[in-house]
Amino acid sequence: MTGARQREQDQPISYSMIFRRLKFSLASLAAVCLTVGPGLVGGELFGETSVAEARSTSKPKAKTSKKKAKSKKSSGKAKKRGKAKRRRGRRRAKSSGHNVGQSKLRSTPLDRPSGELWVYSDNLKEEVKVQLYSEDGEFDDAALASLDHEFRCKRTKEERAVDPRLYEMLSRIQDEFGGKRIHLVSGFRFQRNEGSRHYHASAMDIRIPGVPVRKLRAFAESLDGGGMGIGLYPRSNFVHVDFRAPGEPSYRWIDHSRPGGKSRGKGRSRRAKRRNSPNT
Ligand SMILES: [Zn+2]
Repeated sequence: MTGARQREQDQPISYSMIFRRLKFSLASLAAVCLTVGPGLVGGELFGETSVAEARSTSKPKAKTSKKKAKSKKSSGKAKKRGKAKRRRGRRRAKSSGHNVGQSKLRSTPLDRPSGELWVYSDNLKEEVKVQLYSEDGEFDDAALASLDHEFRCKRTKEERAVDPRLYEMLSRIQDEFGGKRIHLVSGFRFQRNEGSRHYHASAMDIRIPGVPVRKLRAFAESLDGGGMGIGLYPRSNFVHVDFRAPGEPSYRWIDHSRPGGKSRGKGRSRRAKRRNSPNT
């Protein structure tokens, strides 16, 4: 019995021992694998865990990078908005100008023009064709009178004795561009803007059909020996020419206002701007 019992006892003991040992060895193997494995074995399992790790570590990274991207995007938008604002700002600042130093002006005296003048007023739909000089070489009073009449204020019909140097400039311009009829956009203006040279009858806005305004401006500028204001209105398609007060420097500007003077948006009206603008 004892032998059998021992065998009976031995057998389950030995089986359970084997099982336990096996279990232990498996467990230790697993432990070794888990601790050393990832470093040594690049299997799919570890690959996955590493991917998962990568994901788990990269997730916040991804979030931050997304955030960064978002912030970049938004900053880009902000930049764009800024640019647009600046662009709008630039658009709002329709007029820009500068003084011109004497060194950049004409240094040689001007030739006397032919005196021939053929001017059409766009507003009054009237034209005048005169010889500016009389036979003795002085200004012809009748010619000046008819030109002053042509230059009258379109709104009030007021007339002024326009600075005759403007008429001489007009004749030089006409001589330069083949005697083509000059269109007068604006001459004397009896207006609120007393700072305007138009109000002082020493300014004119002109154009010549078929002659680019920039070409017209360039020629007008070449005539300036000092004290002239010349403005380019590319959108309204005319050039402003004026004579300034003695000692005042020459001035140049570009005004991108639309024809008709209606300003865009909520900005001040062109008329309001003109009221404060000393250049027009
Ligand atoms: Zn003008």
